[in-house]
Amino acid sequence: PLAGKVAVVTGSTSGIGLGIARAFAESGANVVINGLAEQREIDFVCEELDGICPASRIAYNGANLMKADEATGLVEETIVEFGGIDVLVNNAGIQHVSPIESFPAEKYEAIIALNLSASWYTSRAAFAAMKAKGYGRIINVASAHGLVASPFKSAYVAAKHGIVGLTKTLALEGAEHGITVNAICPGYVWTPLVENQIDDTAMARGITREQVIRDVLLAAQPNKRFADVEELGALAVFLCGPGGRSITGTALPVDGGWTAH
Ligand code: NAD
Repeated sequence: PLAGKVAVVTGSTSGIGLGIARAFAESGANVVINGLAEQREIDFVCEELDGICPASRIAYNGANLMKADEATGLVEETIVEFGGIDVLVNNAGIQHVSPIESFPAEKYEAIIALNLSASWYTSRAAFAAMKAKGYGRIINVASAHGLVASPFKSAYVAAKHGIVGLTKTLALEGAEHGITVNAICPGYVWTPLVENQIDDTAMARGITREQVIRDVLLAAQPNKRFADVEELGALAVFLCGPGGRSITGTALPVDGGWTAH
């Protein structure tokens, strides 16, 4: 269904971004992969995606999205190389877990730069090209933490609530131009980002790893399971297709009921 479309997926060398990139390639889209990874990991991912659909072209762009000019450059270079951009998925993100009194300021700045500001820069760079085509899809991978909070994640929750606001604003600006802008709000998905925060959460709360998984992570999700990246990929493809035309300005929970509490 996405044959011939050009999609940029930020932070797609791993986790949810890679799941979305795979789903796009399966739908026939050309996909620009991005992420900070070792060369052999990048080669491995590009090779896998290249093998999915002969018609879809896969390219890698190594923009460091902490830097505004590189975030802008990712989109501008895609437009030059592929002749346009149809789909932008702002997915790259990081986490840091700490009580606010000891939360390092540089971690706060980094989380705001990557999880919020980078999406503003990429969206700004993509908007004119999408308007000119009369079609555009911007999907922001926010979080259940874009809708509700948890303690010890002050920077992340602030950035994710911010991106839900950005989503609504750009949805209004794109509404008459065939551009939809939505936020996807996953609960816990089993990826390196979640795995890496288990030890810090255990320390912040004074409990074991097993207790973190059972009593903190899955306790939040009434369905008691981690979502998998294929679920997020399928939703992103749906939002880009004809069924997604009137869905805009939303923050869609994919959280097993977490935010229904
Ligand atoms: P991940 O750690 O598996 O992947 C993160 C990706 O971002 C990687 O490709 C990494 O290289 C890239 N990245 C990191 N810093 C970058 C930078 N400066 N410039 C460019 N790319 C950079 O994480 P994930 O779990 O797949 O998370 C993806 C998104 O989903 C994040 O925005 C995260 O907040 C959100 N999210 C994740 C979960 C979850 O449970 N995993 C839940 C809700 C929301």
